[in-house]
Amino acid sequence: MQEATASVLIVDDQAPFRSAARMVVALSDGFEVVGEAETGESAVELAAELAPDLVLMDVNLPGIDGLEATRQILAGSARPPVIVVLSTYEADEYAPRAAGAGAAAFIAKSEFDPDSLEEAWRAAKTAAGAS
Ligand SMILES: [Mg+2]
Repeated sequence: MQEATASVLIVDDQAPFRSAARMVVALSDGFEVVGEAETGESAVELAAELAPDLVLMDVNLPGIDGLEATRQILAGSARPPVIVVLSTYEADEYAPRAAGAGAAAFIAKSEFDPDSLEEAWRAAKTAAGAS
């Protein structure tokens, strides 16, 4: 049985990065972008509205940051999405903070590609006990 396509919400205040993220998702196997948000607040709203399977979350956003938006999305979802935090910041500093907020993974933007996306998704699904 083929695995269902995972719906993806992209959150980043920079349009060029949202475009780049769309391209990475398009080149990855089994994902489809269903929405984009430019702020943490709109990410929380869209996550509630669209119930995506995966959220690609920038850290540095105007208003509430990506870590706070991650906490709010996870707290407010009956079926919480997998949240992958993406940032230009160093993984050393932000990976523990992303994990503390409940994110499944942290990927440095410079390393974000179909391989790292698929790997983070697989790891999150394995951790959740799903296939
Ligand atoms: Mg940003």
